[in-house]
Amino acid sequence: MSIYSFVRWTFLKKIALVSSSLLITLMSCKNSKIEGDYQFKNVLIYDGSGEIPFISDVIIKKNKIVKIAQNISCHSCKIIDGSGKALAPGFIDLHAHLEALPQIPSAESAIHMGVTTGLGGPDGSSPINIDKHLSELENQKIGINVAYLIGHNSIRSEVMHLDGREPSSEELQEMKSLIDKGMKDGAFGLSTGLKYLPGTFAKVDEVIELSKVASNYGGIYTSHLREEGLGLIEGVQEAITIAREADIPVVLTHHKAIGMPMWGASHKTLAMVDSARKVGLDVMLDQYPYTASYTSLSVLIPPWALEGGRYDAFKARCEDSILRDSIKRGIIFNILNDRGGGDLKRIQLAQFDWKPKLEGKTLYDWALEEKLEPTAANGAELIIRAQQNRGAKAIYHAMSEEDVINIMKHPQTIIASDGRITEFNKGFPHPRVHGTFPRVIGHFARDKNVLSIQEAIRKMTSLPAHRLGLLDRGWIKEGYIADIVLFDPETIIDKATFEQPHQYPDGINIVMINGNIALDKDGLSENRYGQILRGPGYSNN
Ligand SMILES: [Zn+2]
Repeated sequence: MSIYSFVRWTFLKKIALVSSSLLITLMSCKNSKIEGDYQFKNVLIYDGSGEIPFISDVIIKKNKIVKIAQNISCHSCKIIDGSGKALAPGFIDLHAHLEALPQIPSAESAIHMGVTTGLGGPDGSSPINIDKHLSELENQKIGINVAYLIGHNSIRSEVMHLDGREPSSEELQEMKSLIDKGMKDGAFGLSTGLKYLPGTFAKVDEVIELSKVASNYGGIYTSHLREEGLGLIEGVQEAITIAREADIPVVLTHHKAIGMPMWGASHKTLAMVDSARKVGLDVMLDQYPYTASYTSLSVLIPPWALEGGRYDAFKARCEDSILRDSIKRGIIFNILNDRGGGDLKRIQLAQFDWKPKLEGKTLYDWALEEKLEPTAANGAELIIRAQQNRGAKAIYHAMSEEDVINIMKHPQTIIASDGRITEFNKGFPHPRVHGTFPRVIGHFARDKNVLSIQEAIRKMTSLPAHRLGLLDRGWIKEGYIADIVLFDPETIIDKATFEQPHQYPDGINIVMINGNIALDKDGLSENRYGQILRGPGYSNN
């Protein structure tokens, strides 16, 4: 190399160095001055992965998370001091009862516990016309993001009413067509409630055939099992069979072991899930964190007694003394071995239009008021009377905490509320409508150390997002939609109880939905920021 070329080379190298450092300076200027709408500063981030949380700043612009880094400054951002607070993706409720959304579009009960997305249509019950329903919700504007399943019980009722028989091939075809349309309309999959009418009349082959339709579109199958008490193991086996035969991802929804004879059975059911996954079946679970369930009082009545009609046909059967006796014996059996938990004190009346004064009281209290011995037989008499007067809803205190914890710890268990969208101070709901997510973080993770907070958050965010195939929600990541919960990890806790269910949780500071603040210290926003999410079959429309 000549002196001349050496000098020139050194000169060019210097220019390159200067210009590259200039570029870095310019870039870092650009990085340190980002445009956005909100900046969370110095916040502990649980990103949804289940990994150890880290402290950083997060910038939100429009509906997206645009930057996650330390020491960044933002032009136009409203600053939110996150010191001492934790930031997580908004909670995705995989088992949500959204039936009341048209009347309560704010979805206030859900937002107050950090839910930003709800999956409606569980337990086999949904609108038949998914497109019409979603369009109506879209026009009305709703508080949270909403996704839907299409329900087997609703479809079967539409095609076969409450008939207790197998479908003809035409009827099966009609049900398949309704699911096909539901998937094209944007359903995320099929739900069944095989414990309830008329799903209880469906054999496994019918459910397999219908699940195949959802599977063709990349949908999922969520199962309220045929039995969660004495028949639990067979119920889990049936769901696994459906996963295999229909080649579809399955969620065993609100997984539990109900009734004292079955306490401890979660060890067996979780082992069955593990074995199924080992051979390649995509089986997951969801769970609400309570030892009591909520459903109709009629769940204690043998299904055959309700065939053809929950009220009139039932009443007619009770006129026949032999049938009535058989119904009563069936109810006594269920009080002793199933949801009744063997004790009238474990059956708490919730919604009871015929006798609203009994709401919150137990079947034991009702028996005493009627001057009856609180026996299972007398309890059965009262249940028959209630059903003859259009039934009631009840809370059943019939699970063991050991099973609840065992199921919660399983890596494939999603946290979901099974709660109904509820207006504050209206009715007597299960406390899960206000407490589910803060209860898992505050009570089970922080206070009882059942699982880590990061693992609890994963079960409410990235895991359900993965199950639904949502590619831009459920994580705190750049480019993801800004559905966010800011909470205080020291104080977050559920406050709703079985005695006083209308209590919002503590420690949820901000809920952001699609980049907008839906809840903060001033309460719920008057605007509603939810979006309609449509499932994998929608593009085929
Ligand atoms: Zn449910």
